[in-house]
Amino acid sequence: MVAQATYIVLMGVQGAGKGTQAAILSRELNLPHVTSGGLFREMRTQDTPLAREVQAIMKTGALVPDDVTIRIVGDRLMKGDAVQGAILDGFPRTRPQAEALDALLAKMGSKVTIVPFLNLDKEVAIRRISDRWECSQNPSHVYNQSTNPPQIPGRCDIDDAPLRQRDDDTPEAAARRVNLYFEETAPLLDYYRAKGLVREINADQPIDKVTADLMSAITTAIQAG
Ligand code: AMP
Repeated sequence: MVAQATYIVLMGVQGAGKGTQAAILSRELNLPHVTSGGLFREMRTQDTPLAREVQAIMKTGALVPDDVTIRIVGDRLMKGDAVQGAILDGFPRTRPQAEALDALLAKMGSKVTIVPFLNLDKEVAIRRISDRWECSQNPSHVYNQSTNPPQIPGRCDIDDAPLRQRDDDTPEAAARRVNLYFEETAPLLDYYRAKGLVREINADQPIDKVTADLMSAITTAIQAG
């Protein structure tokens, strides 16, 4: 029997620890970490009208249009390393994106395995985002001044590169993104709840405890698969 591919859709407000947990799960489960925000940030190096439009939208904290987002994430999921599955972080964010993902996975003979929901209060989320720093060499190495500080201030523990703050992590853009999440993305949970895929995880716990809760939920879902 061919094992089912494992597609994990991590949900939760920005600041809930999706990026940190996705990087850990990616290592533990040997699946690529596919982050829509990361794919858009990579476009910074391109000088095309689309790349400039995406950068301008991101600076305000608003959402990139669905058609652009679906195309860019869809292209990434078609790459060979994602045929056994992926950890999706930041996508889907809207119902049309969720429907497009279902259609794409169905075409590949697959489906979403589980939707872990990292639950966190709005105020805690805004504070965590404003405290967030990432590695300038590998942005999946993420730190938080209060909950997960680097050993040497301002330097990455893993590759010693300088840390930087994302330009969409200003307190204003952070508040806008968090509010937008509760308006536009949280309702997406109902879409996945109706399919019986959502598992709620308390995100206001130490990182290793959140990972343990996630791994337990994911293992159960894979076995039930
Ligand atoms: P993130 O790193 O997930 O917070 O994403 C950073 C920014 O990228 C967001 O504020 C949006 O402007 C854009 N973005 C990321 N993912 C999506 C998505 N699934 N749909 C629309 N816009 C997105």
